[in-house]
Amino acid sequence: MCVKLNPSGRIHVIFLVEEPEAQEEQSSEEPKKAFGVDLGIARLATLSDGRFLENPKPLERSLERIRVLQRTLSRKRFLSKNWLKTKRKLAKEHEHVGDFRRDLFFKLGALLAEEYDVLVLEDLNVQDLIQKGVTKKRRLRLHDSAFSEIRRILEWEFVKRGKTVLAISAYSTSRECFLCGGINQNLSLEDRIFNCPHCGFTLDRDLNASLVLLRRAGWVPSAVPVELRPIPPLPSLGLKKRRQGGALKQEAPSVRAG
Ligand SMILES: [Zn+2]
Repeated sequence: MCVKLNPSGRIHVIFLVEEPEAQEEQSSEEPKKAFGVDLGIARLATLSDGRFLENPKPLERSLERIRVLQRTLSRKRFLSKNWLKTKRKLAKEHEHVGDFRRDLFFKLGALLAEEYDVLVLEDLNVQDLIQKGVTKKRRLRLHDSAFSEIRRILEWEFVKRGKTVLAISAYSTSRECFLCGGINQNLSLEDRIFNCPHCGFTLDRDLNASLVLLRRAGWVPSAVPVELRPIPPLPSLGLKKRRQGGALKQEAPSVRAG
């Protein structure tokens, strides 16, 4: 057991539990289902089956609050009473963002690991991403840790179930045409739609990238989705309004025995 005091003043108690590794029996006869995922900033994740996950509103709001608090902090006198107060508020908000994201990623991971056998994701190269978007550096700094985290959690959910994770080089996946393999040299960071100059294939930029990733891993989807559709709100995402009034009804946390 480990006790940790966070900068926000919150105390975490972390338990380490050992349990036997889950081994899901999979018959080799059944065809395996694979999907690729492209991680991004506006859209957190775009799946090769056409589904996507956007930054949820509460998360956007928190990120905005962090930006405001950072500005406020820079105007306070270093180590003054108000500086310390703002510093703590900032730490709290950062923690909240972290908690919210982790919760979201675990739910997404669980959902996908139930549906698929093989997860294909990009070999992490955050550096590449940061260099490409120098102008949006600050926004990216808030996100780069999220990239490694979503990756780590998705991986964990798959491995836990005895499923496969393939990390594929993401080098210029967004410039490559899924259909013909041609390269679109002129694609800029602002282009949201991929348009192939060789074969004319047109698709959402991130969706094309996730499909290229899937193909690089040796899988080709039976049908290429043409439309994007949002992943329905994951259960108890915290997006529901808090119940107001009435008796304080506290739900017991669902603890699974064993
Ligand atoms: Zn093409």
